[in-house]
Amino acid sequence: MKFCIENFGCQMNDHDMEKMASLLAGEGMQRVGDAKKADVVIVNTCCIREKAEQKFYSLMGRLRAVKEKKGTIVGVTGCIAQMEKEDILKRLPFIDFSLGPSNIHKIKKAVDRAMCNEPLLDFSENGCRESLLIRPGYSQESVKAYVTIMKGCNNFCSYCVVPYVRGRESSRDSRDILQEVAALGNKGIKEVTLLGQNVNSYNNKRDDISFPELLREINGIDGIERIRFVTSHPRDLSPELIDCFGGLEKLCEHIHLPFQSGSDRILKLMNRGYSSDEYTAKVEALKDRCSDIAVTADCIVGFPGEDEEDFRKTMDLIEDIQFDGIFSFAFSPRRFTVASTMPGKVPQSKALERLHHLQKLQREITLSKNRAMEGQTIEVLVEDVSRNSQEELTGRTRTNKIVNFRGPQTMMNRLVEVTIAKGYANSLKGEGAKLKEVQAC
Ligand code: SF4
Repeated sequence: MKFCIENFGCQMNDHDMEKMASLLAGEGMQRVGDAKKADVVIVNTCCIREKAEQKFYSLMGRLRAVKEKKGTIVGVTGCIAQMEKEDILKRLPFIDFSLGPSNIHKIKKAVDRAMCNEPLLDFSENGCRESLLIRPGYSQESVKAYVTIMKGCNNFCSYCVVPYVRGRESSRDSRDILQEVAALGNKGIKEVTLLGQNVNSYNNKRDDISFPELLREINGIDGIERIRFVTSHPRDLSPELIDCFGGLEKLCEHIHLPFQSGSDRILKLMNRGYSSDEYTAKVEALKDRCSDIAVTADCIVGFPGEDEEDFRKTMDLIEDIQFDGIFSFAFSPRRFTVASTMPGKVPQSKALERLHHLQKLQREITLSKNRAMEGQTIEVLVEDVSRNSQEELTGRTRTNKIVNFRGPQTMMNRLVEVTIAKGYANSLKGEGAKLKEVQAC
């Protein structure tokens, strides 16, 4: 039996997709990339932004036609499943099952039930621990892996639907995480990314080791060469965590630290729990501790009530910090959230105009930072053949920048040293690649 998973959203969703794929493959099912060739299609959804939700419903229209023609089993998982619960059948009456994110461990049961025409709809939060414990299988060629260490969020930022669809924070037992990372190290995985909606509030209740302590433990695991984590909340960036950068040799010099707005008035309306000065002070502390650190962020423009002065403060903050990259979005109201009913709606055309200015500024900053790297020799973990040219390999620096360079296939999945020949807006061009392990001998 063949299955296909269509996935929307963030790294946590990518990881959930791999977990479900492992469970089904473990039951003898074969994964295919084309929904038309599959007997079962699972759509793993995201509702953080309106655009992802629109794309999901348009995909479902196409899958309905596939189902009518071939009798394909179609199921929905993830955030939209959780948000809509049983109501999903009103809009998509043809689907065969729907599971919230805490129930993805029941994926095989859902498929089995669908084959008997017994749709499984499960949105309970009780399975949260079981879904966290699933370990995806990685192929022999894999060099990077993701490990979910916590899920959910208690912050209730006024624009965000996550606490409503992913529930409250729940952290995994550190012993289980460390066992999983050790097993990955033994298997040849070199880079591990710790995942959580609010990853740096891992075990805030302090009934297990803290997040910095967890990083220190992982730093000591054989085989693992690089550690990353996403996504961090600025308020939970403690001095101990800042100290880990530059202190733990395997912790990569990169942090993704969403600031969302440079205006304190808007940050308050967003319920973010910090001011722009506090954010800036934390980034300065990170740079003092680790001068090479790359800082990336998320930012929303056109939040209800945002005026030109608020937007100017956002642009000032970007100029001040000199981010390595920003994921920026125009505000889109999400169901359940406080911001969706706030007054002061910014016209879409105005929000898009601000977004355009912001992205132009950030492109210039990224380009100038990438150009400043020309001539430097840096470590790259080789991940694949470049999308631009079959003759080039591609990988990432410890600061999470993409580098394309010429090199033999034997460098695949290895750590190499590359000299940066050219910096572009979205990537770097390298030359003179040498295996790092060989040099170390
Ligand atoms: S901290 Fe992140 S996940 Fe939690 S509510 Fe705010 S934006 Fe959403």
